[in-house]
Amino acid sequence: MEQIIVIFTIMIDIQHNHHLKELNSFGLDTRAAYYARPADMETLTNLLEHENNRQLPLLVLGEGSNILFRNDFDGLIIQPGMKGVELVEEGEEELVVRVGASENWDDWVRFATEQGWYGLENLSLIPGSVGSSPVQNIGAYGVELKERFDWLEAWDIQLKQLVRLDHTACQFGYRSSIFKGEAKGRYIITYVAFRLSRKPDLKLEYGNVKTELTKANGTTPMDLRNVIIAIRKSKLPDPAQYGNAGSFFKNPMVDRTIFNCIRVEYPKVPFYPRAGNQMKIPAAWLIEKSGWKGKRIGNVGTWPTQPLVIVNYGGATGQEIYDFSEKIMEDVERLFSVTLEREVNVI
Ligand SMILES: Cc1cc2nc3c(=O)[nH]c(=O)nc-3n(C[C@H](O)[C@H](O)[C@H](O)COP(=O)(O)OP(=O)(O)OC[C@H]3O[C@@H](n4cnc5c(N)ncnc54)[C@H](O)[C@@H]3O)c2cc1C
Repeated sequence: MEQIIVIFTIMIDIQHNHHLKELNSFGLDTRAAYYARPADMETLTNLLEHENNRQLPLLVLGEGSNILFRNDFDGLIIQPGMKGVELVEEGEEELVVRVGASENWDDWVRFATEQGWYGLENLSLIPGSVGSSPVQNIGAYGVELKERFDWLEAWDIQLKQLVRLDHTACQFGYRSSIFKGEAKGRYIITYVAFRLSRKPDLKLEYGNVKTELTKANGTTPMDLRNVIIAIRKSKLPDPAQYGNAGSFFKNPMVDRTIFNCIRVEYPKVPFYPRAGNQMKIPAAWLIEKSGWKGKRIGNVGTWPTQPLVIVNYGGATGQEIYDFSEKIMEDVERLFSVTLEREVNVI
């Protein structure tokens, strides 16, 4: 039975033994010892002050679409509830918009595109909240968040103060940022500000985007958004039907020596040259060549048309999904001497 504890002196609603099934896209039936959803800064700071006394492990949760809970979480989950979209800077060509952490990412992209605030169309339909979008510098179809990011506001748990972090401070990289690296667990992002363009600037270079837009007779940013949505829907499983967290692994960078060895055996290996004599190889290709495409063990499997996605076919536990991912990593390492890194945050 879920129990609601209300601390009347500071009016914080903290729930005990909170179910997380609806709060993670794998649909895992786990629980958090404590859960709170502060909707403003005062409630958030009161909550943290109060929780300091209890010394509980802390986890910030967005919409749970990039998280794998291996077990119940024996601590406090804070799901920031800050809402709102506010125009904070207006220029002739560009504008800056500040958006609350708990706004749904795709609702925000749709709203921005409808307003004629452009630049986010290629990131349409990525599941999750605005607040977590900088955490892994979300990216899709040739665009990354960092290209439209301006600054963010966050509560610094270490310094116990509200801070504003700019582009440089966030240290964005491929599916990474300071929030996944050295500052993991230090900040609670409350608002994110985006620098958007009033002029359409369609990014069509990636994959079949241009072909699909032409086929649809599309010319506008909204047309591009619709095409991206259609492509995504055709390729990826819907988490509402099959629990998943999108790409489970990052595409690995390998040095040229290892790449050349792979190429001897597989002359058609796909690759993207990167700085420093590094090659990026699609993780999906490595997984497929290791025999894991469409493979299923019990209730866990890779998606038949996209082996980078690990799916909970129903009733799997977080540990089973984790073990499945370990087996894939072992085989890829053994066959190619390439270490896959999980994109998903394992808790
Ligand atoms: C079907 C599917 C497709 C996907 N496609 C893509 C894609 O194309 N590109 C891509 O980049 N990602 C993709 N993802 C992954 C996911 O959508 C993104 O990582 C998204 O940003 C996660 O948002 P969330 O709110 O669900 O974050 P959560 O899963 O709740 O959290 C992710 C991480 O961010 C931290 N966090 C969350 N909120 C905050 C906050 N306010 N302050 C500080 N830390 C916070 C959490 O502690 C956790 O470490 C996909 C996922 C699914 C299920």
